[in-house]
Amino acid sequence: MAEPYSTPYKSPTITKWVAAGTANPRFQLSSPASVADVLRSSGRSMDPEVYRQSYINFDKAIDFLVKTAGKHKVLSEILLIAAGQMHGERDPLDPDEPAKWGHDEEKFVTVLIPGNTIEAAVRLPTKAVGYTDYLPAAVYVSDYSTTKIDPEVHFASTLMHEYTHVVIERIYRNVSVPWKNGDESAAAAGKDRYNALVSAFLSIKEIPDGRWGIHNEDLRKLLVTLSNDWAGFTHSRRYPESVPYLVEALFLATRFGEQPESIVKTAFGEAIMDVFTKYVVPDINTAAQKVRKAGAVT
Ligand SMILES: [Zn+2]
Repeated sequence: MAEPYSTPYKSPTITKWVAAGTANPRFQLSSPASVADVLRSSGRSMDPEVYRQSYINFDKAIDFLVKTAGKHKVLSEILLIAAGQMHGERDPLDPDEPAKWGHDEEKFVTVLIPGNTIEAAVRLPTKAVGYTDYLPAAVYVSDYSTTKIDPEVHFASTLMHEYTHVVIERIYRNVSVPWKNGDESAAAAGKDRYNALVSAFLSIKEIPDGRWGIHNEDLRKLLVTLSNDWAGFTHSRRYPESVPYLVEALFLATRFGEQPESIVKTAFGEAIMDVFTKYVVPDINTAAQKVRKAGAVT
């Protein structure tokens, strides 16, 4: 879930939380630092009573996330770029800008909310397990402390989704939609790209009962949940949500050892995978190269 910069839902306490949170005490970052260490050290616990358990869950989820993403290039590139927005002297996506980060609020942190939903704590209008805000830059996630079955899988899947929001937001700087502001205009050079992405995003439907070449029962259930959420968004909400949902589906298919691209095509149609590969993946690869070149994250 992601919202524009000036979300009406934002609680005035959130800014204080980001600043006042207890940092993960188990990791001191070197420079350069690994993706896994940067992600772990981005954790901020807001509740001193539960922070140890929050960090135990978060550390396990990050281990699982990084290990699983390591099996698929685009997933690991997304995590590298997200980590680049959390560590280092300046924004690696803007290397020609001589100034350092505008201020610390532009560096992302991961705020751990006790329990299995976050809407009460973050003041969201609907049930949610994750939420990405851009300034102060923070991913808010449930710490899955009340989830009984495979909490690290669900936690990692949510983190993959939210860190994709981070990456898409910072590549395009357009409230998490995968094009630059202005590409909507018919006169703009991005017209074909924009039209192809929008039309693929709007083609997403709830997975019909008959569309099943997916034999893994656990994966199928998870994809049905994703498709119900994804298809439920109105048009304007669909645009910033589609890449994170697609990446989450790729992550889950990778976790179950399936061929991710073919799973996404089977579950959600060929159009979405094709536009992602053609128009978004090259931008992700370019951004990942910038992060490597900047050298703060390895
Ligand atoms: Zn989202």
